[in-house]
Amino acid sequence: MNILVIVAHPDDPEFFCGGSIARWVQEGHHVEYLIVTSGDKGSDDPHMTPWQLVETRREEQRKAGAVLGVHDITFLAYSDGELFNTHDLQRDLVREIRRARPDRIVTLDPLTLHWGARGINHRDHRAIGNAVNDAIFPGSSSRFYFTELLADGYLPHPPREVYYAGPSAPNTWIDVTATIDLKAQAVCQHVSQVKEPDSAKVADRLRTGLFRLLADGQVQYWEAFRCVSL
Ligand SMILES: [Zn+2]
Repeated sequence: MNILVIVAHPDDPEFFCGGSIARWVQEGHHVEYLIVTSGDKGSDDPHMTPWQLVETRREEQRKAGAVLGVHDITFLAYSDGELFNTHDLQRDLVREIRRARPDRIVTLDPLTLHWGARGINHRDHRAIGNAVNDAIFPGSSSRFYFTELLADGYLPHPPREVYYAGPSAPNTWIDVTATIDLKAQAVCQHVSQVKEPDSAKVADRLRTGLFRLLADGQVQYWEAFRCVSL
Protein backbone atom coordinates (compact mmCIF):
# COMPACT_ATOMS: atom_id res chain seq x y z
CA MET A 1 0.00 0.00 0.00
CA ASN A 2 1.17 3.56 -0.72
CA ILE A 3 0.68 5.89 2.26
CA LEU A 4 1.08 9.67 1.96
CA VAL A 5 1.31 11.65 5.21
CA ILE A 6 0.35 15.30 4.58
CA VAL A 7 0.94 17.63 7.53
CA ALA A 8 1.59 21.30 8.31
CA HIS A 9 4.99 21.29 10.07
CA PRO A 10 8.25 19.37 10.31
CA ASP A 11 7.71 17.19 13.46
CA ASP A 12 3.92 16.75 12.99
CA PRO A 13 4.27 13.19 11.60
CA GLU A 14 6.29 12.00 14.58
CA PHE A 15 4.32 13.79 17.32
CA PHE A 16 0.89 12.90 15.93
CA CYS A 17 1.42 9.36 14.68
CA GLY A 18 5.08 8.27 14.66
CA GLY A 19 4.29 4.89 16.21
CA SER A 20 1.76 4.06 13.48
CA ILE A 21 4.12 5.25 10.73
CA ALA A 22 6.89 2.98 12.08
CA ARG A 23 4.45 0.09 12.17
CA TRP A 24 3.23 0.69 8.61
CA VAL A 25 6.84 0.78 7.34
CA GLN A 26 7.61 -2.47 9.20
CA GLU A 27 4.54 -4.07 7.62
CA GLY A 28 6.03 -3.34 4.18
CA HIS A 29 4.02 -0.30 3.14
CA HIS A 30 5.59 2.56 1.17
CA VAL A 31 5.33 5.70 3.31
CA GLU A 32 6.02 9.26 2.08
CA TYR A 33 5.71 12.61 3.84
CA LEU A 34 4.51 15.88 2.39
CA ILE A 35 5.48 18.70 4.79
CA VAL A 36 3.57 21.79 3.72
CA THR A 37 5.10 24.66 5.75
CA SER A 38 8.73 25.19 6.70
CA GLY A 39 8.04 25.49 10.42
CA ASP A 40 9.91 28.78 10.24
CA LYS A 41 8.22 30.35 13.28
CA GLY A 42 8.83 27.45 15.65
CA SER A 43 11.55 28.93 17.85
CA ASP A 44 11.93 31.26 20.84
CA ASP A 45 15.73 31.38 20.43
CA PRO A 46 16.68 35.08 19.99
CA HIS A 47 19.78 34.04 18.01
CA MET A 48 17.83 31.95 15.49
CA THR A 49 16.72 33.41 12.15
CA PRO A 50 13.75 32.04 10.19
CA TRP A 51 16.15 31.06 7.38
CA GLN A 52 18.37 29.06 9.71
CA LEU A 53 15.30 27.48 11.25
CA VAL A 54 14.04 26.26 7.85
CA GLU A 55 17.30 24.37 7.24
CA THR A 56 17.52 23.11 10.82
CA ARG A 57 13.99 21.77 10.79
CA ARG A 58 14.35 20.13 7.37
CA GLU A 59 17.43 18.30 8.59
CA GLU A 60 15.66 17.27 11.80
CA GLN A 61 12.71 16.03 9.75
CA ARG A 62 14.97 13.99 7.46
CA LYS A 63 16.65 12.36 10.50
CA ALA A 64 13.29 11.64 12.17
CA GLY A 65 11.91 10.12 8.98
CA ALA A 66 15.02 7.95 8.67
CA VAL A 67 14.51 6.63 12.23
CA LEU A 68 11.01 5.46 11.26
CA GLY A 69 12.12 4.15 7.84
CA VAL A 70 10.10 6.63 5.79
CA HIS A 71 10.86 6.32 2.07
CA ASP A 72 10.62 9.92 0.85
CA ILE A 73 9.97 13.46 2.15
CA THR A 74 8.81 16.45 0.10
CA PHE A 75 8.83 20.01 1.49
CA LEU A 76 6.43 22.59 0.00
CA ALA A 77 7.87 25.58 1.94
CA TYR A 78 4.67 27.51 2.72
CA SER A 79 5.02 30.02 5.59
CA ASP A 80 4.53 28.69 9.11
CA GLY A 81 1.39 30.02 10.82
CA GLU A 82 0.01 31.46 7.59
CA LEU A 83 -1.51 28.40 5.92
CA PHE A 84 -4.76 29.11 4.08
CA ASN A 85 -6.83 26.85 1.88
CA THR A 86 -6.04 28.74 -1.33
CA HIS A 87 -6.31 27.75 -4.98
CA ASP A 88 -2.49 27.56 -5.16
CA LEU A 89 -2.33 25.22 -2.17
CA GLN A 90 -5.09 23.09 -3.72
CA ARG A 91 -3.10 22.79 -6.95
CA ASP A 92 0.07 21.81 -5.03
CA LEU A 93 -1.78 19.18 -3.00
CA VAL A 94 -3.62 17.74 -6.01
CA ARG A 95 -0.32 17.53 -7.91
CA GLU A 96 1.42 15.72 -5.04
CA ILE A 97 -1.49 13.29 -4.53
CA ARG A 98 -1.51 12.50 -8.24
CA ARG A 99 2.30 12.06 -8.18
CA ALA A 100 2.48 9.82 -5.09
CA ARG A 101 -0.79 7.97 -5.92
CA PRO A 102 -1.49 6.95 -2.30
CA ASP A 103 -4.05 4.33 -1.28
CA ARG A 104 -4.19 5.95 2.17
CA ILE A 105 -3.72 9.60 3.04
CA VAL A 106 -2.86 10.52 6.63
CA THR A 107 -3.51 14.11 7.65
CA LEU A 108 -4.67 16.15 10.66
CA ASP A 109 -8.25 16.44 11.89
CA PRO A 110 -9.57 19.91 10.90
CA LEU A 111 -12.38 19.60 13.47
CA THR A 112 -10.09 19.50 16.50
CA LEU A 113 -10.18 22.98 18.04
CA HIS A 114 -8.76 22.12 21.47
CA TRP A 115 -6.79 19.34 23.15
CA GLY A 116 -9.45 18.39 25.65
CA ALA A 117 -9.34 21.08 28.33
CA ARG A 118 -5.67 21.83 27.64
CA GLY A 119 -4.71 24.20 24.85
CA ILE A 120 -5.68 25.26 21.34
CA ASN A 121 -4.90 23.18 18.27
CA HIS A 122 -2.56 25.13 15.95
CA ARG A 123 -4.39 26.91 13.14
CA ASP A 124 -2.13 25.32 10.50
CA HIS A 125 -3.11 21.83 11.73
CA ARG A 126 -6.77 22.65 11.06
CA ALA A 127 -5.98 24.45 7.81
CA ILE A 128 -4.06 21.52 6.34
CA GLY A 129 -6.85 19.09 7.28
CA ASN A 130 -9.40 21.21 5.43
CA ALA A 131 -7.13 21.74 2.45
CA VAL A 132 -6.35 18.03 2.12
CA ASN A 133 -10.07 17.22 2.29
CA ASP A 134 -10.78 19.56 -0.62
CA ALA A 135 -7.77 18.33 -2.60
CA ILE A 136 -8.83 14.68 -2.27
CA PHE A 137 -12.44 15.38 -3.21
CA PRO A 138 -13.08 16.40 -5.81
CA GLY A 139 -9.68 17.71 -6.99
CA SER A 140 -7.37 14.68 -7.11
CA SER A 141 -9.71 12.29 -8.89
CA SER A 142 -11.46 14.55 -11.40
CA ARG A 143 -9.69 15.42 -14.67
CA PHE A 144 -11.57 18.70 -15.03
CA TYR A 145 -9.93 20.14 -11.90
CA PHE A 146 -6.50 21.68 -12.54
CA THR A 147 -6.42 20.65 -16.18
CA GLU A 148 -2.94 22.19 -16.41
CA LEU A 149 -1.68 19.25 -14.32
CA LEU A 150 -2.86 16.79 -16.95
CA ALA A 151 -0.52 18.34 -19.49
CA ASP A 152 2.37 17.70 -17.08
CA GLY A 153 1.41 14.03 -16.74
CA TYR A 154 -0.36 14.17 -13.36
CA LEU A 155 -3.32 11.91 -14.04
CA PRO A 156 -6.38 11.78 -11.76
CA HIS A 157 -6.04 9.53 -8.72
CA PRO A 158 -8.68 8.64 -6.11
CA PRO A 159 -7.21 7.60 -2.70
CA ARG A 160 -9.16 4.83 -0.95
CA GLU A 161 -9.15 6.14 2.63
CA VAL A 162 -8.12 9.01 4.91
CA TYR A 163 -6.72 8.69 8.44
CA TYR A 164 -7.14 11.92 10.45
CA ALA A 165 -4.60 12.14 13.28
CA GLY A 166 -5.33 14.14 16.43
CA PRO A 167 -9.01 13.28 15.98
CA SER A 168 -11.91 14.99 17.74
CA ALA A 169 -13.99 11.80 17.39
CA PRO A 170 -11.68 8.77 16.97
CA ASN A 171 -12.98 5.56 15.44
CA THR A 172 -9.70 3.70 14.78
CA TRP A 173 -6.86 2.83 17.15
CA ILE A 174 -3.45 1.55 16.02
CA ASP A 175 -1.49 -0.59 18.49
CA VAL A 176 1.95 1.03 18.76
CA THR A 177 3.20 -0.99 21.74
CA ALA A 178 6.07 -2.40 19.64
CA THR A 179 7.05 0.91 18.04
CA ILE A 180 6.58 3.47 20.83
CA ASP A 181 10.33 3.54 21.60
CA LEU A 182 11.07 4.17 17.92
CA LYS A 183 8.51 7.00 17.98
CA ALA A 184 10.32 8.53 20.97
CA GLN A 185 13.68 8.29 19.14
CA ALA A 186 12.15 9.96 16.09
CA VAL A 187 10.53 12.73 18.17
CA CYS A 188 13.95 13.42 19.75
CA GLN A 189 15.49 14.13 16.32
CA HIS A 190 13.51 17.41 16.43
CA VAL A 191 16.09 18.95 18.76
CA SER A 192 14.89 22.51 18.08
CA GLN A 193 11.37 21.56 19.23
CA VAL A 194 11.86 19.19 22.17
CA LYS A 195 12.94 20.77 25.48
CA GLU A 196 14.70 17.63 26.66
CA PRO A 197 15.45 15.33 23.68
CA ASP A 198 16.09 12.27 25.86
CA SER A 199 14.33 9.37 24.17
CA ALA A 200 13.85 7.32 27.37
CA LYS A 201 12.11 10.26 29.07
CA VAL A 202 10.05 11.06 25.96
CA ALA A 203 9.03 7.39 25.75
CA ASP A 204 7.90 7.51 29.40
CA ARG A 205 5.77 10.58 28.68
CA LEU A 206 4.28 8.95 25.58
CA ARG A 207 3.40 5.85 27.58
CA THR A 208 1.50 8.02 30.06
CA GLY A 209 -0.59 9.58 27.30
CA LEU A 210 -1.21 6.65 24.95
CA PHE A 211 -1.94 3.68 27.20
CA ARG A 212 -5.05 1.55 27.24
CA LEU A 213 -5.64 -1.00 29.98
CA LEU A 214 -7.06 -4.22 28.59
CA ALA A 215 -9.66 -6.35 30.35
CA ASP A 216 -7.05 -8.97 31.29
CA GLY A 217 -4.87 -6.33 33.01
CA GLN A 218 -2.34 -6.00 30.16
CA VAL A 219 -1.28 -2.55 29.03
CA GLN A 220 -1.08 -1.64 25.35
CA TYR A 221 -0.23 1.71 23.72
CA TRP A 222 -2.37 3.15 20.94
CA GLU A 223 -2.53 6.08 18.54
CA ALA A 224 -6.04 7.24 17.67
CA PHE A 225 -7.41 8.28 14.26
CA ARG A 226 -10.66 9.16 12.57
CA CYS A 227 -10.71 6.82 9.56
CA VAL A 228 -12.94 7.61 6.57
CA SER A 229 -13.33 5.29 3.55
CA LEU A 230 -13.80 6.96 0.18
ZN1 LIG B 1 2.52 21.29 14.00
